[in-house]
Amino acid sequence: MSGVWAVCVDFIDALNEAARSTYPDEFICLHRAHNGIIDEFVMLPGSVFGETHSFINYWMDPIDYERTGSAHSHPGYSAEASEDDLQVFRSTGGVHFITCLPYDRTSWRVYNSAGERISLELVYEDGTKVELEE
Ligand code: ZN
Repeated sequence: MSGVWAVCVDFIDALNEAARSTYPDEFICLHRAHNGIIDEFVMLPGSVFGETHSFINYWMDPIDYERTGSAHSHPGYSAEASEDDLQVFRSTGGVHFITCLPYDRTSWRVYNSAGERISLELVYEDGTKVELEE
């Protein structure tokens, strides 16, 4: 997605928190960016969380959000995109997050619409870079 260069640490924390509370089901949402920083959840009305990847339907929601992509959780220790994930990424465009156990600030990956891993800066709300302790 053009212009997106970073993700806000609050977004990652909230994603992980949602993933934890939805566990062992998957949490799925869309997101939005401001000034190139992804920092807002777009929750879809009537979202049902389940074990299957069913969010293609969500993208057919007629409401035209200014979407930058999707984010979902895996109830395991792999944030590798599944075949289903890749298909969704390819058909939807944008930037796609997957977080996995233990749902912390390093347990997420981000993919482009071709399903290739990309890297985004992790920043605070004001755009300063977050330093992660190893
Ligand atoms: Zn997945």
